[in-house]
Amino acid sequence: MIESNIKAKIKTRITELFGIERPIVQGGMMWVAGAELASAVANAGGIGFMAALAFPDAESLRAEIKRCRKMTEKPFGINLTFLPTLRPPDYPAYIKVCIEEGVHFIETAGQNPEKYMDQIKSGGIKVIHKCTSVRHAVKAEKIGCDVVSIDGFEAAGHPGEDDVTSLILIPLTRDALRIPIIASGGFADGRGLVAALGLGADGINMGTRFVATKEAPVHENIKQALINHSELDTRLIMRSLRNTERVMHNNAADKVLEIEGRGNMRIEDIVPFVSGLVGKQMLDYGDIEKGTFATGQSVGLIKDIPTCKELLDRIMEQAEEIIKELAGKFHTLR
Ligand code: NAD
Repeated sequence: MIESNIKAKIKTRITELFGIERPIVQGGMMWVAGAELASAVANAGGIGFMAALAFPDAESLRAEIKRCRKMTEKPFGINLTFLPTLRPPDYPAYIKVCIEEGVHFIETAGQNPEKYMDQIKSGGIKVIHKCTSVRHAVKAEKIGCDVVSIDGFEAAGHPGEDDVTSLILIPLTRDALRIPIIASGGFADGRGLVAALGLGADGINMGTRFVATKEAPVHENIKQALINHSELDTRLIMRSLRNTERVMHNNAADKVLEIEGRGNMRIEDIVPFVSGLVGKQMLDYGDIEKGTFATGQSVGLIKDIPTCKELLDRIMEQAEEIIKELAGKFHTLR
């Protein structure tokens, strides 16, 4: 057996279920979450999810899974997002490849995966459903999901339409479910991890924080922009389409909001700004004004660009210190 060189560890239902040493999940971000990032997170003791839709077809996803396996012997998973798209994906083909390649975990998001559950479960795959409300979490448990990742209003990307923050959503979800839950939306450091555990979660999911790491395959300008932007520098776009997305504040986000403000907006009116392909160019070439880029309010907590290992070490050490300090403050009167 290979001896792990990871020092600070913690046991929760999430670490047990994934077979990992730290209850930290890297979410399946479009264009960012590929083999480099997922393997770096895995090697640092957490678990990463690669975004299937960032690969044009199922065979390219297969190649990425094989590439990731060469970079880590530890577990990783695949994200499948069911939201409106400009290019409809062949979901069953992506799931088939996951089964054939022996993937153990799929993170679903957008809509509940009921339609695909039989196929996913036929491969013995565990399903982590990412959702934005208690009612959706309850439904996920009912249809057989193994874990719920609950996304607060602070989150990047699609935080839903209810606008309930993690502080409320996590304990309410904990009360409503029996299966493990992952807290997502607003998490970037050890303080957040302790808070999430205190609120009843079994681990945290981070997205934006992982974009500002050495291994994230995005242009340095994007990483610098994450350092330079504060917690006030995100915007909610596409609310009028009931497909709200939290993105970094830039010219493209302002343009979408201006078009949206005129009323009766259709998706066609904003494609040049929101298209994923434009977003990909932005991430590759570093033009931070060109398109929209999913960013959470946790951007305010980002001050540097560590490696994933440095980041996870730091989060665990900070969490451990806080827990010890808090424990020392308790004096029970007898
Ligand atoms: P895309 O180029 O297909 O669409 C760009 C944006 O417009 C997306 O936010 C999409 O949801 C939205 N959109 C497209 N058609 C729409 C319609 N008819 N009505 C309302 N909104 C519409 O997106 P992409 O970048 O290729 O991403 C593919 C899918 O993955 C999208 O649904 C996107 O929202 C989703 N996504 C996933 C993640 C993730 O973490 N896995 C992150 C961001 C986005």
